Amino acid sequence: MHACPCGYFSDPTRECRCTGAIIQRYLSKVSGPLLDRIDMHIEVPSVPYKELRGKDTGVSSAEMRDRVEGARAIQQRRGFYNSRIPSRQLRKLCALDEAGERTLEMAVRRMGLSARAHDRILKVARTIADLSASESVIAKHLAEAVQYRSLDRSYWN
Ligand SMILES: [Zn+2]
Repeated sequence: MHACPCGYFSDPTRECRCTGAIIQRYLSKVSGPLLDRIDMHIEVPSVPYKELRGKDTGVSSAEMRDRVEGARAIQQRRGFYNSRIPSRQLRKLCALDEAGERTLEMAVRRMGLSARAHDRILKVARTIADLSASESVIAKHLAEAVQYRSLDRSYWN
């Protein structure tokens, strides 16, 4: 979806003229309970033409596939793909260090997250850790997972 009705919100080249109230009404069409069930919301700014045509310097698809396959193999050995981790195993399989606990607690408080959103963030953080072959979920993984909940941010409420 667009971030606002005109579609130019956060566009570096065109100005968005939508007011806060209009944006809020637009975003409220996607219901909270529905958003809650979506693991990741990410703001994707439009790509300037030059970048679109420029040389690709990011991770190649082949490299990314290797990382994804590696993460899936880790999850298979663990017994569950991360999206399927039963809630009674969640705390054990997504154990956090002290800094991670603090990061999560702060996010839940500031963003007013539901229990479901909390669990989803933990699972996404587990996946980010698996993608870097990290045994433990650390604050950095958690902070990245929290970023993917941009539509939960109280900014919109
Ligand atoms: Zn707009």
